[in-house]
Amino acid sequence: MSNKKPQFSKKTLQLAQKYAKQLSQKDVIELKSDDDNDIKSDDEELNIKDDQNEQNSGQQEDEQFEEQQGEDEENNVDEEDENDEDQDDEQNEEDDEQNGDQEEENQDEQEIVEQKEEPKKQKKIKIQQQVEEEQEQEDEQNELESYQEEEQQNDQLFETDLNAIMNRINKIIEILKQKEYGKFSREELLNELKKHLCTYYGYNSDLMSHFTSMFKPAELVAFLDANDAPRPITIRVNTLRTRRKELAQTLVQRGVNLDSVGDWTKVGLVIYESKVPIGATPEYLSGHYMLQSASSFLPVLALAPQMNERILDMAAAPGGKTTYIAQLMKNSGVIFANDTSKDREKALFYNLQRMGVTNCIVTNYDGRKFPKVMKNFDRVLLDAPCTGLGIISKDPSIKAQKQMRDILKHSHLQKELILSAIDCCKKGGIIVYSTCSVSVHENEVVLQYALNNRHVKLIDTGLEVGNPGLLKFDDKKFHPSMNLARRIYPHVHNMDGFFYAKLKKINHGPIKEEVKSEVQKPVVMTKKMKKKEKQMEKLRLGEARKQQQQQQQQ
Ligand code: SAH
Repeated sequence: MSNKKPQFSKKTLQLAQKYAKQLSQKDVIELKSDDDNDIKSDDEELNIKDDQNEQNSGQQEDEQFEEQQGEDEENNVDEEDENDEDQDDEQNEEDDEQNGDQEEENQDEQEIVEQKEEPKKQKKIKIQQQVEEEQEQEDEQNELESYQEEEQQNDQLFETDLNAIMNRINKIIEILKQKEYGKFSREELLNELKKHLCTYYGYNSDLMSHFTSMFKPAELVAFLDANDAPRPITIRVNTLRTRRKELAQTLVQRGVNLDSVGDWTKVGLVIYESKVPIGATPEYLSGHYMLQSASSFLPVLALAPQMNERILDMAAAPGGKTTYIAQLMKNSGVIFANDTSKDREKALFYNLQRMGVTNCIVTNYDGRKFPKVMKNFDRVLLDAPCTGLGIISKDPSIKAQKQMRDILKHSHLQKELILSAIDCCKKGGIIVYSTCSVSVHENEVVLQYALNNRHVKLIDTGLEVGNPGLLKFDDKKFHPSMNLARRIYPHVHNMDGFFYAKLKKINHGPIKEEVKSEVQKPVVMTKKMKKKEKQMEKLRLGEARKQQQQQQQQ
């Protein structure tokens, strides 16, 4: 279909309009808008034929008329058209100018309106900003409140969780006591208990395993509880400077509430309450007392230094025990206060001066090498470096940090140091070994090592304070005299955990291998050894039965 619109003469259009009245509105529209090809009715076809006839005759008339008019007419039409166009342009320009002026006017008016409305707008913006700021503040406040609420809920949950854990701990302890394990084995229950104890008290599992092998469950909980509670502050009166009664009176006057530590010491005072800092009173600064845990008095009392003796304090810094030894010796004789740490020796010097100790020589050797420096001491104190498992209440970081490997590392150094301490002592002299650890590896195991390797024996400390040393631990068995050693537990004695033992040197030198195997029966029985022994026993029994049967047959 062609896009070109059909060209109709005036007549044809008049006819078309005449017939269009007979057509529907829709058809007329179609006729106006489109080619006549789509007209379908017979009448319409006929009309169109008429139209064509008329159109043809009309065309002929038009042609004749056009010929008469000639070319001039055509030119006139062109000129008229041009004139019309010029007029149109002028009119348009005028219109444009008018429109431009109108637009400018409109713009000016708009600007004036805008200028008038500007302060209003700014006011509106300000209010909007204020509202937004207030909304932000409100949001922040709400956020903070919901965060605090959440924290509170977490704390409550944590608390209820801890309570739930403690309930489970108590339940397991009860089950283990009654030995009715139900569907779980004892080992499974112990493992669960260990896990809960680590969570509740904040220990690493390695250290907790060590403690679970040392204590029965109920005692373990008591020990762990005690480690979370502070021990009472105690001081030792320096009798080189004052007397206990005098000092007690002065301190009471300063607002200190105190009492004696116990019957076993004449120099200990326990501080319940104080209005003044105990480590900064004039009496403290002038050396009338030492801030010292009560259990630290014990190894010095066990050492029992005598007037005019030669004493070695092998690991002395910061001098808590050295100053006590000096006081018991009334500054007579001589004390060699040794320590491997130069830094810690500064505190040792300060304490010796403050406390008025005048019989002390400070040395800085590795204790393991001291026998090469000096020997033949009347008494030697080895207050050995240790893991500090007895003073967890003073240093809670131990719970997370110390592991079995630290215990074994210390045990190794302690074994070397104890042999060295024995070697520094005269024949018949006294050696006191102590640590602020409750671990077996740092105490009984070290002493057993000394018994196995040097001519020493354990003797009574002369003190009642403390539980006896252990005779066995895991698959280890210790010498029966180990019960003369003393263990201090925080949950039993309300003092820092501690260990001390007194040895007497019988002879010089190491124990020879052949003598060692005769004198020192195997005290450490490993699981492997036990298993082998059982197997041998079975074999022996089997052979004995066979022989019996053979004899009966004969
Ligand atoms: N007896 C002191 C505390 C001693 S703590 C008092 O009552 O105040 C253990 C000390 O052992 C630490 O001062 C440490 O520096 C020291 N030490 C560690 N290894 C040593 C070694 N090989 N020889 C000597 N001293 C050592």
